[in-house]
Amino acid sequence: MTSFDLFIIGAGPGGYVAAIKAAKNGLHVAVAEREDVGGTCLNRGCIPTKALLHASELFRSFLTCESFGLCVENPSYDLEKIYAYKEDASCQLRQGVENLLKANGITVYRGSATIHADHKISVESEEGTQWVEATNILIASGSKPAMIPIPGVELQNVLNSDDLLRKPHEGSSLAIIGGGVIGVEFATVFSSLGWEVTILEALPALLANMDKEISQNLKMILKKQGVTSYTGASVTQIAQESGKLVCHFQQKEKPACVRADYVLVAVGRRANTDGLLADDLSLQMDRGKIVIGEHFQTSESGIYAIGDVTGGIQLAHAASAQGMAVADALSGKECSIDLTLVPSCVYTNPEIASVGLTEAQAKEQDIPVRVGKFIMSANGKSLIGREERGFIKLVFHGENDRILGAQLMCARATDMVGQLAMAIANNLDHHQLTKAMAAHPTFYEAINEAAEDAFGGAIHILPKRR
Ligand code: FAD
Ligand code: AMP
Repeated sequence: MTSFDLFIIGAGPGGYVAAIKAAKNGLHVAVAEREDVGGTCLNRGCIPTKALLHASELFRSFLTCESFGLCVENPSYDLEKIYAYKEDASCQLRQGVENLLKANGITVYRGSATIHADHKISVESEEGTQWVEATNILIASGSKPAMIPIPGVELQNVLNSDDLLRKPHEGSSLAIIGGGVIGVEFATVFSSLGWEVTILEALPALLANMDKEISQNLKMILKKQGVTSYTGASVTQIAQESGKLVCHFQQKEKPACVRADYVLVAVGRRANTDGLLADDLSLQMDRGKIVIGEHFQTSESGIYAIGDVTGGIQLAHAASAQGMAVADALSGKECSIDLTLVPSCVYTNPEIASVGLTEAQAKEQDIPVRVGKFIMSANGKSLIGREERGFIKLVFHGENDRILGAQLMCARATDMVGQLAMAIANNLDHHQLTKAMAAHPTFYEAINEAAEDAFGGAIHILPKRR
């Protein structure tokens, strides 16, 4: 039986990154993947959605470019071609990952892996079953869309994110159940393409775990972009009437409904554990997710789990960082990444990004804070691009002036948040954060201004009336 130092189940951003890191550390590594390498992220998640967002927002910009003195007559699009472009982006990245796995000497098993007792693994494919053993096993089997248990979810044209990304759908209206990250990103795609989009969110706000001001602004901005959002709206049933789907929901205990060609169910994701464990092995689970302790160790010695299957923060970069940490720990190395600090990005227009503590979270933890804020309408680069109203908010410790958190809602927020994450991870204080000049004109200037505002010194903010 072939034997490995590390056998990884799932080649998503958690699994394939762990594999490469472990191989670079000198371990003999194998990965099993039953679909495509790159996992949800490259094939059904981050990359395809961002490609659709890119194309659809370009289209929206053709419709609104008059204010720049430009004129595009009768702009139109071909959804088939947009999907072909999206597929091309996934395909190129997938090929890149295949090449990396090969070049790093990692054995890839194509098939569905099952873990048995005594660290034995079977991989089942059309060609039959292969058996291997490994000193260590890493479960990186990810997640899949969750469905809500309401009547009508089985109807045709009730889709999840996988279905909506798989092929173009002809239609002109979409109701989205769930106003989380996935829901608002798809709302942006389809409203940019001119569809009538409605979001139904059970909680009182869209992106409910983000800074309150972000949620409120987003609802208004989406409205301007043609998206109707109902918050505090719990969907109870989907029905089919005269060729349309009808979502019935309760808002403030009053019944209401929305009609659409399609319904997207975007209410979260479930851990992928189907067929993962043989009858002779059990792991501690919590509501379908694999329970992990210190160093991503499951309840079974030598078996680790990372990424979406553990149900923590379900983001690609979190899975990758955890994968690197496990690979380093198995090689006796210390991983330099601060795993507790996970930037979170939403690719709406404007973009949204958040890292570290919000003002409300700091207050809940009795941490004294100083908050600085800069409104992007006073930023030259924002004005040039006629960007939507946005802001940058920075949260500092009230006593030692260290930066604790940042919330951004503006163009390039998802790129700029990286520098703020670096500042927080390195415990930089206000003085260190503002030591470097920001180039002009850049969106980044607003970060220095927000930092100065926390200490009363922002240049491009009118002084408070005395
Ligand atoms: P996955 O990427 O799910 O990979 C797991 C892999 O394991 C899969 O390929 C699966 O086929 C394989 N597998 C499972 N079981 C077995 C088995 N028994 N044998 C063999 N193979 C198996 N995150 C971001 O950070 N940024 C974004 O912009 C973003 N956008 C998203 C948009 C959408 C629509 C969705 C759905 C998700 C998005 N995410 C985003 C989340 C991100 O995709 C996931 O957090 C990430 O892919 C999780 O990585 P993972 O390695 O844990 O699992
Ligand atoms: P996320 O977990 O970020 O993908 O977001 C999923 C969202 O779906 C959450 O904000 C939930 O509140 C929301 N949700 C779940 N069930 C329903 C429902 N029946 N009606 C409306 N929204 C829902």
